[in-house]
Amino acid sequence: MNQTLAALPGLQLSRGATGAAVAEVRDRLGRLGLLRVNVDSGDPVDEFDADLDAAVRVFQQQRGITVDGIVGSKTFRRIEEARWNLGDRVISFTYGHLTAGDDIAELQHRLNSLGFDPGRIDGIFGPDTDSAVREFQRNVGIDVDGTCGPQMWRELDRLNRTVTGGTPQQLRSDHYHSMTKTGAANKVVVLDPGHGGPDYGHVGHRLAESIVADDVSRRIEGRLAAIGTQVLMSRPMSHEMDNEVDESARAQFANDNGADLVVSLHVDAEPTGNAAGISTYYFGHDEDRSVLGQRFADTVQAEIVRRTDLTDCRTHAKTWDLLRMTRMPAVRVEFGYVSSAHDASRLSEATFRDVIAEAIAGAVVRYFTPETDAE
Ligand SMILES: [Zn+2]
Repeated sequence: MNQTLAALPGLQLSRGATGAAVAEVRDRLGRLGLLRVNVDSGDPVDEFDADLDAAVRVFQQQRGITVDGIVGSKTFRRIEEARWNLGDRVISFTYGHLTAGDDIAELQHRLNSLGFDPGRIDGIFGPDTDSAVREFQRNVGIDVDGTCGPQMWRELDRLNRTVTGGTPQQLRSDHYHSMTKTGAANKVVVLDPGHGGPDYGHVGHRLAESIVADDVSRRIEGRLAAIGTQVLMSRPMSHEMDNEVDESARAQFANDNGADLVVSLHVDAEPTGNAAGISTYYFGHDEDRSVLGQRFADTVQAEIVRRTDLTDCRTHAKTWDLLRMTRMPAVRVEFGYVSSAHDASRLSEATFRDVIAEAIAGAVVRYFTPETDAE
């Protein structure tokens, strides 16, 4: 029943909605302590009122997803994941259908603080978490089966100690990064032009996001291919597409191809026309972030800000699917607002789009430049 709701592609609940799905959302957010639930004192059971709107926004804020007060299938899926506490269910790695939930994030957090490497603390039971679980099981001398059940919870509780997280991860990240600093040639870079096909993304000042993203991605591809980088596109050119490609499929594509980096290309928009500038996003939330994702995001942001007159809107941590489900450093660049007269006039010039491409290709090269060559 919950699964079916979450899988509904058209699920779109917002203020004013009523019905069973709204009741379910109220119930879930109530259990998370985000919504006061007191039916006796007259709180509605199945109405999407101002209180629920506020609770949804707090939830979205906490989880690093776009804060819009709308419960679509993505937000609902995250609400669904939030109901699991460590020990509530038996979990393991299942290829092709990865289990996700807050219990898994807690498991990853604990393994990490005990010195094991479960990969990112992303709440997804992937291969890295599986190897960390097996390594843990081997170390404590219990069945090495990758399955997390009662035996595993007992051992974790026994060994649970408070260690401030982050340090082992920082060290591993630095080590990993220095291993990959062998130049950009022969690296695999996935470029991910946003939207495509029937989905144009943001539209403004006669510019469509998917078409701008197509153009810039082709320009980056040309530059990187020339120096021997293997560039893969996460989707065909927009006009060749009949259907939309969702973010999890794009992330899967990057994972399947063993990409070293992922760059997702978007532009932004906002109703007043006043917002303008460039932002770059990487995976992260209150308790964890991708060290290398942030490092690469900072490089991309700096390269674009240095070469253009776009306002510097800085880098930010988000948990969007593409950032969360990719196993390698991934960033999403939002280079300008098509709703801004200034940014749109820049974006409509081919020479300007070329400068953006040059900046992003330059950031990729810089990221892989061996330490000794770096200035
Ligand atoms: Zn977009």
